[in-house]
Amino acid sequence: MQMTEDPQTISSPDESLISEISSHSDEVSVGGINVKNNSNPRKWGIQDAIRLYNIDGWGGGYFAVNELGNLTMLPEGEGGPQIEILDVIQEIERQNLELPCIIRFHDILRHRVTRINQGFQRTIQDLGYRGVYRGVYPVKVNQMREVVEEILDAGRPYHYGLEAGSKAELQVVLAYNDDPEALTICNGYKDSEYIQLALLGQQIGRKVIVVIEKFSELQLCLDVSKELGVKPRLGIRAKLSSPGAGKWQESGGEHAKFGLTTTEILRAIDFLKEHEMLDCLELFHFHIGSQIPDIRSIKSAVSEGARLYANLVNLGAPMRYFDVGGGLGVDYDGSQSKSDFSVNYTLEEYINDVVYQVQQVCDDEAVPHPDLVSESGRAMVAAHSCVMMKVIDVISPSSKRSWENSPALESSEIVKETLDILKSLTPKNALESYHNAVAKQEEALSLFKLGHLSLLERSVIEQLVSEVCRWISQNLKRMKRIPEEFKELKYKFKQQYVVNFSVFQSAPDHWAFDQLFPILPIHRLNERPKEMGILVDITCDSDGEIDRFIDPEDEFSPVLKLHTPNPKKPYYLGLFLTGAYQDIMGDMHNLFGRVNEVHVFSDDEDPEDFYIEEMIRGDTISDIVVANQYSVAELCRKIKQQVEPRVKDGSLKPRQGVQLVDFYTRLLSGYTYLRK
Ligand code: PLP
Repeated sequence: MQMTEDPQTISSPDESLISEISSHSDEVSVGGINVKNNSNPRKWGIQDAIRLYNIDGWGGGYFAVNELGNLTMLPEGEGGPQIEILDVIQEIERQNLELPCIIRFHDILRHRVTRINQGFQRTIQDLGYRGVYRGVYPVKVNQMREVVEEILDAGRPYHYGLEAGSKAELQVVLAYNDDPEALTICNGYKDSEYIQLALLGQQIGRKVIVVIEKFSELQLCLDVSKELGVKPRLGIRAKLSSPGAGKWQESGGEHAKFGLTTTEILRAIDFLKEHEMLDCLELFHFHIGSQIPDIRSIKSAVSEGARLYANLVNLGAPMRYFDVGGGLGVDYDGSQSKSDFSVNYTLEEYINDVVYQVQQVCDDEAVPHPDLVSESGRAMVAAHSCVMMKVIDVISPSSKRSWENSPALESSEIVKETLDILKSLTPKNALESYHNAVAKQEEALSLFKLGHLSLLERSVIEQLVSEVCRWISQNLKRMKRIPEEFKELKYKFKQQYVVNFSVFQSAPDHWAFDQLFPILPIHRLNERPKEMGILVDITCDSDGEIDRFIDPEDEFSPVLKLHTPNPKKPYYLGLFLTGAYQDIMGDMHNLFGRVNEVHVFSDDEDPEDFYIEEMIRGDTISDIVVANQYSVAELCRKIKQQVEPRVKDGSLKPRQGVQLVDFYTRLLSGYTYLRK
């Protein structure tokens, strides 16, 4: 085997034998070992980074890369102010807040709310539709007060309202949505208190609509409204037969948890007529699932729903609102496709289809055009927040070659034979050599079990076989065809980037069902990333890792291209599009809890184009232990109790005892994540 001067570089043992070298300019280093590459790689530029991380695909016009190779945020879309994310991180650190940290861009929230409202207004006007848009934001998608406040403020000119799915959410929604023109939609399972709360809203002059999700809620509504002497405003949720699509398709269709079948809808009409309450029914609603990837599912649901709506009008209900629910998706992987984490349509296409389909059906059925309601959550808030994280370590598959000077290379036949396999490797004989190497490893194991091979010899053979695999994985591009068995070798030598965050807190949907989120370094984008890595978090669970990444050329990639961290400088990664569901569903696994958070506003007058309006500290250790029923005083008392006897028996000096208790107590008020 030829060894180059550089111990980190391995070349083919006999380059002259390589007959099938294909040109390959984009070779990567694997496990810290560089492939010797005779071709001259094209210079890396920021356009390559934009392509590699598919920033234009998922970024929705909110992200760019500047000439310094740093990721920038354009909170008002293209043409607006640009904020360098690295500047925000530096400001966060100057203010003594640590990573991981959520950055919320409030201008994005405003921009999203304005876009959906103005989009509907424009289409309504263009198509001559005779109704208005009265959208609502479903707070369950992100209930944070600051998020809800910003959305309401941005939506005020359009009478944008809120949707609640539980009593607790309704309490928040009633207190905050004080525009008498805006809708408050009440979804979810209800008890009499829930309905009473909705009627309270009505009594204080608000447009609160109770959506009947199951037949039995009608009786409940009737009873509570009779008791209070307040007539409810009602909606009805239908189970459509148009199938949803994507991960949440079970939310719609016949087997959905919520909604009334057509037969139940007819029974509901009879019930309302019988109790002289048909005049309460104003809204028709369906929700076929979140993150609908295919526009055809939306078209089909809207047209079926519009027919049902028209039928309700013809049955005498004074219908006024047509509510298409949520489902407007986010292009997380940037593929603009029907994949589960993408969408094959734009916001504009979605709006056009909703307005057009309802108009067509209503005109056909000769019923007035209803006001349109959508309950878009994810599409309003996903883009506004991201999590900034620091890489704290890199675990490489062992690349240390302790075999090189081993006496076993001379003394053991089987070791010599394995070394020969490595030495004579070429792209042409790679498959046969691989089989031979694996066979040698199996033989070595058998000999070891029988006591005929020493531990040292076994170890050298394992290392040599690993070298064979490494060589193959680095030279795949030089092979005309890649045998099936080699495909798994491609990623065998990936690095584990240890990142100071918890998947369970910051990307629970990745943990739960492999949701893809855009992840990339937020700097050094003008440098070629040469490593292949996965991200492992700091929880002590093996599934606390991210091993599926967006890939512009494939459904997903099992590795992320990353830079070799410079030990003297921080290496920052960003996890993007986390504003929907992630914040609120994150959990306390390993007692890490909520991360620090900053709220950023753009400001043209500021030299860095932004200012941080608010900083919210994440959970301290005492916050999180208290949330789990411990008492901080009790914890400290218990530690003190255990220190005292050690001081008494002389194993600790009194000063040491005091220091230990102080340290324990001080740490309780610190951040739960690693400090580095
Ligand atoms: N409305 C209802 C009834 C829902 O159940 C949901 C979420 O699943 C939404 C709205 C929000 O959906 P999305 O975030 O896909 O817009």
